[in-house]
Amino acid sequence: MLVSAKEMLTKAREGHYAVGQFNINNLEWTKAVLLTAQELNSPVILGVSEGAGKYMTGFKTVVGMVNGMLEELNITVPVALHLDHGTFEGCCKCIEAGFSSIMFDGSHYPIEENIEKTKELVAVCAEKGMSLEAEVGSIGGEEDGVVGMGECADPNECKAIADLGVTMLAAGIGNIHGKYPENWKGLSFETLEAVKEKTGDMPLVLHGGTGIPEDMIKKAISLGVAKINVNTECQLAFADATRKYIEAGKDLQGKGYDPRKLLAPGFEAIKATVKEKMELFGSVNKA
Ligand SMILES: [Zn+2]
Repeated sequence: MLVSAKEMLTKAREGHYAVGQFNINNLEWTKAVLLTAQELNSPVILGVSEGAGKYMTGFKTVVGMVNGMLEELNITVPVALHLDHGTFEGCCKCIEAGFSSIMFDGSHYPIEENIEKTKELVAVCAEKGMSLEAEVGSIGGEEDGVVGMGECADPNECKAIADLGVTMLAAGIGNIHGKYPENWKGLSFETLEAVKEKTGDMPLVLHGGTGIPEDMIKKAISLGVAKINVNTECQLAFADATRKYIEAGKDLQGKGYDPRKLLAPGFEAIKATVKEKMELFGSVNKA
């Protein structure tokens, strides 16, 4: 059964480790993340962007697939199904579809409007027993070919949003989505410390986990980060393994064209990436 992310993140915050959010795109992705979490006895958050939800034909399909797998694969570790960077409308759809957690990304609204909309969702999530992630300060990344450097969140705005009763807070600390550019300046631990100071025990979320050096990840966890989002890294690992299979001509040998064979190396590559991250984040055996 899907659970809210609240309990797993509170435990992570207290135990000084982080729970990984791994974004899913299809059946192989979902199965790879769930099986790895179970093998490592780790809690896990499945992230679904609105785009990925649409790709999988809708949030109801995602809920059906994930719930089916939890049962058929005998998954007993805590699993949250979480909307990643949701619009207000997307959040409402996921609540209705049976997600156990949502992120409302109101970072592009003026702070007053972000607060207003977040408040409404706090009330609904409390009623449904769901967890809610809010965002303050935009997270950089490539948009229309331009890589934006992540802004740093205003700690006072973080406190204003945290005080509304959200479960977790994503604060921009110079992190960005996708691959990090050569001239990236690193995470702003100054901002992270200031945010932690203002928000107390609130579990903080680090987006753009791909390519942040391990020592920075560990320091971020020590400063209150309890959830780390990983998306691009699994995509790169999947693409690389699939490319090798095709380039080696394996799809042309025997029944190598069978999707169950063709997608197997990519599936294993996702599993290996998820395992590596869970070990780095310290969530192994924390289920
Ligand atoms: Zn993100």
